Amino acid sequence: MRAWHFAERPDGEPTLDSFELREYERPTPRHGELLVRVRYLSVDPYMRGRMRDADSYAEPWAVGDVLRGGVVGEVVESGSDRYAVGDLVAGRGTWAEYSVLDADDATPVDPEVADLPAYLGVLGMPGRTAYFGLLDVAEPRPGDTVVVSGAAGAVGSTVGQLAKLNGCRVVGVAGTDEKTAWLTDDLGFDAAINYETTDDYRAAFDDAAPDGVDVYFDNVGGPITDAVFTKLNVDARVAVCGQIAHYNAEAVPTGPRKLPQLIASRATVKGFLVTDYATRADAARERLEGWVRAGDISHRETVVEGLEHAPDAFLGLFSGENVGKQVVRVAE
Ligand code: NDP
Repeated sequence: MRAWHFAERPDGEPTLDSFELREYERPTPRHGELLVRVRYLSVDPYMRGRMRDADSYAEPWAVGDVLRGGVVGEVVESGSDRYAVGDLVAGRGTWAEYSVLDADDATPVDPEVADLPAYLGVLGMPGRTAYFGLLDVAEPRPGDTVVVSGAAGAVGSTVGQLAKLNGCRVVGVAGTDEKTAWLTDDLGFDAAINYETTDDYRAAFDDAAPDGVDVYFDNVGGPITDAVFTKLNVDARVAVCGQIAHYNAEAVPTGPRKLPQLIASRATVKGFLVTDYATRADAARERLEGWVRAGDISHRETVVEGLEHAPDAFLGLFSGENVGKQVVRVAE
Protein backbone atom coordinates (compact mmCIF):
# COMPACT_ATOMS: atom_id res chain seq x y z
CA MET A 1 0.00 0.00 0.00
CA ARG A 2 1.01 3.64 -0.42
CA ALA A 3 1.45 6.30 2.28
CA TRP A 4 2.80 9.85 2.33
CA HIS A 5 5.85 10.61 4.46
CA PHE A 6 7.30 13.90 5.67
CA ALA A 7 10.42 14.37 3.53
CA GLU A 8 11.83 17.75 4.64
CA ARG A 9 10.95 20.78 6.73
CA PRO A 10 9.82 23.71 4.62
CA ASP A 11 11.31 27.15 4.92
CA GLY A 12 8.44 29.61 4.56
CA GLU A 13 5.81 28.52 2.02
CA PRO A 14 5.77 24.69 1.84
CA THR A 15 6.27 22.94 -1.51
CA LEU A 16 5.91 19.39 -2.83
CA ASP A 17 9.53 18.78 -1.70
CA SER A 18 8.22 18.23 1.82
CA PHE A 19 6.31 15.10 0.78
CA GLU A 20 7.32 11.63 -0.36
CA LEU A 21 4.98 8.80 -1.38
CA ARG A 22 6.29 5.41 -0.28
CA GLU A 23 5.13 1.87 -0.79
CA TYR A 24 5.02 -0.59 2.11
CA GLU A 25 3.22 -3.53 3.74
CA ARG A 26 -0.33 -3.13 4.90
CA PRO A 27 -0.29 -2.83 8.73
CA THR A 28 -2.07 -5.26 11.05
CA PRO A 29 -4.28 -3.87 13.82
CA ARG A 30 -3.50 -4.84 17.41
CA HIS A 31 -6.00 -5.30 20.23
CA GLY A 32 -8.10 -2.12 20.49
CA GLU A 33 -7.23 -1.00 16.97
CA LEU A 34 -9.01 -0.98 13.61
CA LEU A 35 -7.56 -1.35 10.15
CA VAL A 36 -9.49 1.04 7.93
CA ARG A 37 -9.56 1.30 4.15
CA VAL A 38 -9.34 5.05 3.80
CA ARG A 39 -12.05 6.58 1.60
CA TYR A 40 -11.33 10.27 2.38
CA LEU A 41 -8.55 12.01 4.23
CA SER A 42 -8.42 15.51 5.65
CA VAL A 43 -5.78 18.16 5.04
CA ASP A 44 -5.81 20.98 7.61
CA PRO A 45 -3.99 24.29 8.13
CA TYR A 46 -2.72 23.25 11.59
CA MET A 47 -0.52 20.65 9.87
CA ARG A 48 1.76 23.52 8.79
CA GLY A 49 2.61 23.94 12.48
CA ARG A 50 3.52 20.26 12.72
CA MET A 51 6.10 20.76 9.96
CA ARG A 52 8.01 23.16 12.21
CA ASP A 53 10.57 21.86 14.68
CA ALA A 54 9.20 23.93 17.54
CA ASP A 55 7.12 23.37 20.65
CA SER A 56 3.45 23.76 19.86
CA TYR A 57 0.08 22.35 20.83
CA ALA A 58 0.42 19.79 18.02
CA GLU A 59 3.53 17.62 18.26
CA PRO A 60 6.02 18.32 15.43
CA TRP A 61 6.35 15.70 12.70
CA ALA A 62 9.78 14.10 12.52
CA VAL A 63 11.35 13.94 9.07
CA GLY A 64 10.58 10.46 7.72
CA ASP A 65 7.33 10.11 9.68
CA VAL A 66 4.20 8.97 7.94
CA LEU A 67 1.84 11.96 7.74
CA ARG A 68 -1.07 11.89 10.15
CA GLY A 69 -4.53 13.40 9.94
CA GLY A 70 -8.26 12.78 10.03
CA VAL A 71 -9.68 9.99 7.86
CA VAL A 72 -13.03 8.41 7.06
CA GLY A 73 -13.15 4.84 5.89
CA GLU A 74 -14.39 1.32 6.20
CA VAL A 75 -13.21 -1.17 8.78
CA VAL A 76 -11.49 -4.10 7.05
CA GLU A 77 -10.01 -5.75 10.17
CA SER A 78 -11.17 -5.15 13.71
CA GLY A 79 -9.27 -5.66 16.96
CA SER A 80 -12.16 -4.22 18.95
CA ASP A 81 -15.67 -5.40 19.73
CA ARG A 82 -16.89 -1.80 19.32
CA TYR A 83 -16.66 -1.98 15.52
CA ALA A 84 -17.15 -4.79 13.01
CA VAL A 85 -15.72 -5.31 9.54
CA GLY A 86 -17.71 -3.16 7.11
CA ASP A 87 -18.52 -0.37 9.61
CA LEU A 88 -17.83 3.19 8.49
CA VAL A 89 -15.78 5.20 10.97
CA ALA A 90 -13.95 8.53 11.30
CA GLY A 91 -10.82 9.04 13.35
CA ARG A 92 -7.19 10.03 13.50
CA GLY A 93 -5.27 8.10 10.85
CA THR A 94 -2.64 8.59 8.20
CA TRP A 95 -2.30 9.91 4.65
CA ALA A 96 -2.45 6.37 3.31
CA GLU A 97 -4.58 3.80 1.53
CA TYR A 98 -5.00 1.84 4.77
CA SER A 99 -4.75 3.29 8.22
CA VAL A 100 -4.73 1.92 11.76
CA LEU A 101 -7.14 3.76 14.07
CA ASP A 102 -7.52 3.57 17.83
CA ALA A 103 -11.05 2.17 18.29
CA ASP A 104 -11.62 4.32 21.40
CA ASP A 105 -10.83 7.44 19.39
CA ALA A 106 -12.92 6.46 16.33
CA THR A 107 -16.49 7.65 15.85
CA PRO A 108 -19.28 6.07 13.83
CA VAL A 109 -20.21 7.58 10.47
CA ASP A 110 -23.83 7.59 9.34
CA PRO A 111 -24.11 8.13 5.56
CA GLU A 112 -27.86 8.74 6.04
CA VAL A 113 -27.04 12.02 7.82
CA ALA A 114 -24.44 13.28 5.35
CA ASP A 115 -21.94 12.09 2.77
CA LEU A 116 -18.67 10.73 4.10
CA PRO A 117 -16.54 13.88 3.53
CA ALA A 118 -18.83 15.88 5.85
CA TYR A 119 -17.47 13.77 8.73
CA LEU A 120 -14.10 15.48 8.16
CA GLY A 121 -15.74 18.92 8.05
CA VAL A 122 -18.95 20.10 9.63
CA LEU A 123 -19.43 16.77 11.47
CA GLY A 124 -15.75 16.42 12.34
CA MET A 125 -13.02 18.43 14.03
CA PRO A 126 -13.65 21.71 12.11
CA GLY A 127 -17.37 21.64 12.96
CA ARG A 128 -16.59 21.14 16.64
CA THR A 129 -14.04 23.96 16.48
CA ALA A 130 -16.76 26.27 15.16
CA TYR A 131 -19.23 25.03 17.77
CA PHE A 132 -17.04 25.46 20.85
CA GLY A 133 -15.19 28.53 19.62
CA LEU A 134 -18.34 30.42 18.84
CA LEU A 135 -20.77 29.19 21.49
CA ASP A 136 -18.41 28.68 24.45
CA VAL A 137 -15.64 31.19 23.80
CA ALA A 138 -17.36 34.07 21.99
CA GLU A 139 -20.79 33.65 23.59
CA PRO A 140 -22.91 35.39 20.94
CA ARG A 141 -26.16 37.08 21.95
CA PRO A 142 -29.18 37.71 19.72
CA GLY A 143 -28.70 40.98 17.84
CA ASP A 144 -24.89 40.86 18.05
CA THR A 145 -22.87 41.61 14.94
CA VAL A 146 -20.52 38.67 14.39
CA VAL A 147 -17.58 38.91 11.98
CA VAL A 148 -15.81 35.74 10.90
CA SER A 149 -12.61 35.66 8.84
CA GLY A 150 -11.72 32.63 6.73
CA ALA A 151 -15.50 32.55 6.40
CA ALA A 152 -15.82 30.23 3.41
CA GLY A 153 -13.61 27.55 4.93
CA ALA A 154 -14.56 24.50 6.97
CA VAL A 155 -14.61 26.25 10.34
CA GLY A 156 -15.72 29.69 9.19
CA SER A 157 -18.73 28.56 7.14
CA THR A 158 -20.06 26.68 10.17
CA VAL A 159 -19.37 29.56 12.56
CA GLY A 160 -21.43 31.98 10.46
CA GLN A 161 -24.38 29.62 10.27
CA LEU A 162 -24.30 28.91 14.01
CA ALA A 163 -24.27 32.66 14.63
CA LYS A 164 -27.32 33.07 12.39
CA LEU A 165 -29.10 30.30 14.35
CA ASN A 166 -28.35 32.38 17.46
CA GLY A 167 -30.05 35.48 16.02
CA CYS A 168 -26.91 37.44 15.09
CA ARG A 169 -26.05 39.67 12.16
CA VAL A 170 -23.20 37.89 10.39
CA VAL A 171 -20.42 39.30 8.23
CA GLY A 172 -17.96 36.96 6.51
CA VAL A 173 -14.55 37.72 5.05
CA ALA A 174 -13.20 35.51 2.25
CA GLY A 175 -10.89 35.67 -0.76
CA THR A 176 -13.03 35.26 -3.92
CA ASP A 177 -16.36 36.49 -5.26
CA GLU A 178 -17.51 32.87 -5.62
CA LYS A 179 -16.93 32.42 -1.89
CA THR A 180 -18.64 35.64 -0.81
CA ALA A 181 -21.63 34.81 -3.04
CA TRP A 182 -21.89 31.36 -1.43
CA LEU A 183 -21.87 32.96 2.03
CA THR A 184 -24.63 35.48 1.34
CA ASP A 185 -26.75 33.61 -1.24
CA ASP A 186 -26.65 30.07 0.15
CA LEU A 187 -25.60 30.24 3.79
CA GLY A 188 -27.62 33.29 4.85
CA PHE A 189 -24.74 35.59 5.89
CA ASP A 190 -25.94 39.21 6.01
CA ALA A 191 -22.85 40.57 4.26
CA ALA A 192 -19.51 39.32 2.95
CA ILE A 193 -16.29 41.09 2.06
CA ASN A 194 -13.84 39.87 -0.56
CA TYR A 195 -10.56 40.90 1.05
CA GLU A 196 -8.58 40.25 -2.13
CA THR A 197 -10.47 42.92 -4.10
CA THR A 198 -10.98 45.40 -1.22
CA ASP A 199 -8.42 48.18 -0.86
CA ASP A 200 -9.81 49.75 2.28
CA TYR A 201 -10.77 47.12 4.86
CA ARG A 202 -11.92 49.68 7.41
CA ALA A 203 -14.34 51.29 4.93
CA ALA A 204 -15.61 47.83 3.97
CA PHE A 205 -16.36 47.05 7.63
CA ASP A 206 -18.04 50.46 8.06
CA ASP A 207 -20.48 49.36 5.35
CA ALA A 208 -20.87 45.72 6.34
CA ALA A 209 -21.00 46.25 10.12
CA PRO A 210 -22.42 49.77 10.59
CA ASP A 211 -23.21 49.12 14.28
CA GLY A 212 -19.72 47.88 15.05
CA VAL A 213 -18.56 44.37 15.92
CA ASP A 214 -19.64 42.46 19.05
CA VAL A 215 -17.98 39.14 18.23
CA TYR A 216 -14.97 38.48 16.04
CA PHE A 217 -14.13 34.86 15.21
CA ASP A 218 -10.58 35.07 13.89
CA ASN A 219 -9.28 32.35 11.60
CA VAL A 220 -6.62 34.35 9.80
CA GLY A 221 -4.95 37.26 11.66
CA GLY A 222 -2.95 39.90 9.73
CA PRO A 223 -4.45 43.03 8.18
CA ILE A 224 -8.05 41.73 8.25
CA THR A 225 -7.82 41.35 12.00
CA ASP A 226 -6.20 44.77 12.37
CA ALA A 227 -9.20 46.31 10.60
CA VAL A 228 -11.79 44.40 12.65
CA PHE A 229 -10.10 45.52 15.90
CA THR A 230 -10.84 49.15 14.95
CA LYS A 231 -14.56 48.28 14.86
CA LEU A 232 -14.90 46.41 18.16
CA ASN A 233 -17.82 47.52 20.36
CA VAL A 234 -17.61 47.85 24.14
CA ASP A 235 -17.31 44.40 25.72
CA ALA A 236 -16.74 42.72 22.36
CA ARG A 237 -15.45 39.13 22.42
CA VAL A 238 -12.71 37.93 20.09
CA ALA A 239 -12.20 34.18 19.71
CA VAL A 240 -8.75 33.52 18.30
CA CYS A 241 -9.10 30.24 16.43
CA GLY A 242 -6.37 30.44 13.79
CA GLN A 243 -3.82 32.79 12.23
CA ILE A 244 -3.32 31.25 8.80
CA ALA A 245 -1.96 34.53 7.38
CA HIS A 246 1.13 33.94 9.57
CA TYR A 247 1.59 30.17 9.30
CA ASN A 248 4.20 30.36 6.52
CA ALA A 249 5.99 33.42 7.91
CA GLU A 250 9.47 32.81 9.23
CA ALA A 251 9.14 35.85 11.52
CA VAL A 252 5.83 37.35 12.56
CA PRO A 253 5.94 41.17 12.92
CA THR A 254 6.49 42.13 16.55
CA GLY A 255 4.81 44.95 18.44
CA PRO A 256 1.30 45.51 19.72
CA ARG A 257 -0.34 45.98 16.29
CA LYS A 258 -3.94 46.96 17.15
CA LEU A 259 -3.92 46.18 20.86
CA PRO A 260 -4.57 49.85 21.82
CA GLN A 261 -8.05 49.35 20.32
CA LEU A 262 -8.80 46.99 23.20
CA ILE A 263 -8.57 49.81 25.73
CA ALA A 264 -11.63 51.76 24.65
CA SER A 265 -13.59 48.65 23.68
CA ARG A 266 -12.65 46.73 26.86
CA ALA A 267 -12.86 43.71 24.56
CA THR A 268 -11.89 40.21 25.63
CA VAL A 269 -9.52 38.29 23.35
CA LYS A 270 -9.33 34.57 24.01
CA GLY A 271 -7.53 31.82 22.18
CA PHE A 272 -8.82 28.26 22.34
CA LEU A 273 -8.13 24.72 21.14
CA VAL A 274 -10.85 22.33 20.06
CA THR A 275 -9.03 19.59 21.97
CA ASP A 276 -9.86 21.39 25.24
CA TYR A 277 -13.47 20.29 24.69
CA ALA A 278 -12.80 16.59 24.04
CA THR A 279 -15.17 15.42 26.78
CA ARG A 280 -18.05 17.24 25.04
CA ALA A 281 -17.11 16.23 21.48
CA ASP A 282 -19.86 13.61 21.13
CA ALA A 283 -22.55 16.00 22.35
CA ALA A 284 -21.37 18.67 19.90
CA ARG A 285 -21.34 16.23 17.00
CA GLU A 286 -24.87 15.06 17.84
CA ARG A 287 -26.13 18.65 17.83
CA LEU A 288 -24.34 19.41 14.56
CA GLU A 289 -25.79 16.22 13.05
CA GLY A 290 -29.24 17.41 14.13
CA TRP A 291 -28.79 20.78 12.40
CA VAL A 292 -27.42 19.16 9.24
CA ARG A 293 -30.24 16.61 9.17
CA ALA A 294 -32.82 19.38 9.62
CA GLY A 295 -31.23 21.48 6.86
CA ASP A 296 -30.39 24.28 9.30
CA ILE A 297 -26.69 24.04 8.53
CA SER A 298 -25.41 23.57 4.98
CA HIS A 299 -21.96 22.29 4.21
CA ARG A 300 -19.70 21.95 1.24
CA GLU A 301 -16.53 20.02 0.61
CA THR A 302 -13.87 20.50 -2.05
CA VAL A 303 -12.65 17.08 -3.14
CA VAL A 304 -9.23 16.46 -4.67
CA GLU A 305 -9.09 13.10 -6.41
CA GLY A 306 -6.44 10.53 -5.51
CA LEU A 307 -4.01 9.93 -2.67
CA GLU A 308 -1.18 11.03 -4.97
CA HIS A 309 -2.63 14.58 -4.94
CA ALA A 310 -2.92 14.94 -1.16
CA PRO A 311 0.06 17.34 -0.89
CA ASP A 312 -1.48 19.58 -3.60
CA ALA A 313 -4.70 19.67 -1.59
CA PHE A 314 -2.75 20.69 1.51
CA LEU A 315 -0.80 23.42 -0.29
CA GLY A 316 -4.06 24.74 -1.77
CA LEU A 317 -5.28 25.70 1.71
CA PHE A 318 -2.74 28.54 1.71
CA SER A 319 -3.86 29.89 -1.67
CA GLY A 320 -7.56 29.50 -0.90
CA GLU A 321 -8.33 26.74 -3.43
CA ASN A 322 -11.00 25.24 -1.17
CA VAL A 323 -14.60 26.26 -0.69
CA GLY A 324 -15.79 24.64 2.53
CA LYS A 325 -13.77 21.67 3.80
CA GLN A 326 -10.81 20.43 1.75
CA VAL A 327 -10.64 16.64 1.55
CA VAL A 328 -8.88 14.05 -0.61
CA ARG A 329 -10.74 11.09 -2.06
CA VAL A 330 -8.49 8.05 -1.64
CA ALA A 331 -10.95 5.31 -2.65
CA GLU A 332 -14.59 4.89 -3.58
P1 NDP B 1 -10.13 26.54 5.83
O1 NDP B 1 -11.07 25.55 5.26
O2 NDP B 1 -10.67 27.88 6.26
O3 NDP B 1 -8.95 26.74 4.79
C1 NDP B 1 -8.03 27.75 4.90
C2 NDP B 1 -8.55 29.05 4.23
O4 NDP B 1 -7.78 30.14 4.75
C3 NDP B 1 -8.32 29.10 2.72
O5 NDP B 1 -9.37 28.53 2.01
C4 NDP B 1 -8.17 30.60 2.46
O6 NDP B 1 -9.42 31.13 2.04
C5 NDP B 1 -7.80 31.20 3.82
N1 NDP B 1 -6.49 31.83 3.79
C6 NDP B 1 -5.31 31.27 3.42
N2 NDP B 1 -4.30 32.17 3.54
C7 NDP B 1 -4.87 33.32 3.97
C8 NDP B 1 -4.37 34.62 4.27
N3 NDP B 1 -3.07 34.91 4.16
N4 NDP B 1 -5.23 35.58 4.69
C9 NDP B 1 -6.56 35.30 4.81
N5 NDP B 1 -7.11 34.09 4.54
C10 NDP B 1 -6.26 33.12 4.13
O7 NDP B 1 -9.39 25.90 7.06
P2 NDP B 1 -10.07 25.41 8.42
O8 NDP B 1 -11.50 25.81 8.43
O9 NDP B 1 -9.73 23.99 8.61
O10 NDP B 1 -9.28 26.25 9.51
C11 NDP B 1 -9.55 27.64 9.69
C12 NDP B 1 -8.61 28.19 10.75
O11 NDP B 1 -8.93 27.59 12.01
C13 NDP B 1 -7.14 27.91 10.50
O12 NDP B 1 -6.39 29.05 10.86
C14 NDP B 1 -6.85 26.76 11.42
O13 NDP B 1 -5.50 26.67 11.77
C15 NDP B 1 -7.75 27.08 12.58
N6 NDP B 1 -8.13 25.94 13.42
C16 NDP B 1 -8.00 26.07 14.77
C17 NDP B 1 -8.40 25.08 15.63
C18 NDP B 1 -8.30 25.29 17.10
O14 NDP B 1 -8.50 24.34 17.86
N7 NDP B 1 -8.00 26.50 17.55
C19 NDP B 1 -8.92 23.79 15.10
C20 NDP B 1 -9.10 23.79 13.66
C21 NDP B 1 -8.70 24.83 12.86
P3 NDP B 1 -9.56 32.56 1.28
O15 NDP B 1 -9.81 32.26 -0.16
O16 NDP B 1 -10.72 33.18 1.96
O17 NDP B 1 -8.26 33.28 1.49
